[in-house]
Amino acid sequence: MSEMVASVRKTFKYTLNPTPAQERALETVLWRCRDLYNAGLEERKLAWEKCRVSVNFAMQSAQLPSIKEVRPEYRDINAQVLQDVLHRLDKTYQAFFQRVKAGETPGYPRFQGRNRYTSFTYPQVGEHGGAVLDGGILSLSKIGRIPLRLHRPLHGTPKTVTISKEADGWYASISCAEVPTEPLPLTGKETGIDVGLKVFLVTADGDIVENPRHHRKAEKGLKKAQRRVSRRKKGSKRWWKAVGQCAKKYQKVKRQRTDFHHKTALALVRQYDTIYLEDLQVRNLSRRPKARPDGNGGYEHNGASRKAGLNKSIHDAGWRSFRIILTCKAVYAGKRVEAIPPAFTTQDCSGCGERVYKSLSVRTHVCPSCGLILDRDENAAVNILREGHSRQALTQPVGAYVA
Ligand SMILES: [Zn+2]
Repeated sequence: MSEMVASVRKTFKYTLNPTPAQERALETVLWRCRDLYNAGLEERKLAWEKCRVSVNFAMQSAQLPSIKEVRPEYRDINAQVLQDVLHRLDKTYQAFFQRVKAGETPGYPRFQGRNRYTSFTYPQVGEHGGAVLDGGILSLSKIGRIPLRLHRPLHGTPKTVTISKEADGWYASISCAEVPTEPLPLTGKETGIDVGLKVFLVTADGDIVENPRHHRKAEKGLKKAQRRVSRRKKGSKRWWKAVGQCAKKYQKVKRQRTDFHHKTALALVRQYDTIYLEDLQVRNLSRRPKARPDGNGGYEHNGASRKAGLNKSIHDAGWRSFRIILTCKAVYAGKRVEAIPPAFTTQDCSGCGERVYKSLSVRTHVCPSCGLILDRDENAAVNILREGHSRQALTQPVGAYVA
């Protein structure tokens, strides 16, 4: 393909090995950033409730110097780190208003508790930004030199550093620009993929990627840990212990899922040069537009399907992050992922194009017109491939690459 990218932006995540004193310092920065975030949230909330004034990033950022006068401890924190806190808040608000505009009813931005606000970011690497990378050492201004465990080499130019506290310790995620891509050999093959109702995904070739079984096991463990938290007295020693166990379980589930996404994405990118999938629109996630003629295309109209809807939304969250990983991997490998607008990919017959309406419970596509019998998701994947392929033919006339 002509649009080969020579370099990409990529994040490298490393374990940090802080001394106990450095750990306390990191904890303090995190604590103060969270306080600032919550104070900023409160200001926006009050200004709106009391006087219908909407406070923006510039207004809040301009207050930082006076905050430092009243709370001198904030002078110990890099100014750009503080700016980034307000940026995060701003992003949360923008996302909130966007969803309101789209006709949804999102929850109001939330105050962040000790277990929810777990990272802070140096938006610039270098002396001025307060974070300097020096081989295996990350120097943070006013915190000190912290060794990194460099289990894989860093490539490109470091741009930002995010320090996060996870259940088992501290991590540094270094986002680098101009990371050279590593193209994989072209195979001359393309496919469509669709999210399965029972399986993780189905390709147009009929290949199935199952949901890994260990997920369910780990998720069960997580639920158990969550119940333990809710049984104990909030704030008690035993409660905190249960919270810690819960966080560890959650981290495990998250890691397993990400690992599974990476492996699945790599296998697809190795096998195909172009992968087509359906474009995601915010509202499609909970209610996909694969409507039946009676208009009941959703999941929520009886008890059984409500459950399906909940499982579906959890599944959708995973599908969303998988797509991001797949797209990044494809670009990195010199391959392509193309999203096509969702249409009647489930309903239409991939053999003859006839629209064959089917409810969610119908697992198999049976075409009365041409007699094609195919798994429902595979039929959709074939339609996605065909749609993507024909769009390519339209937008890229023959000979476009010759010049
Ligand atoms: Zn047909």
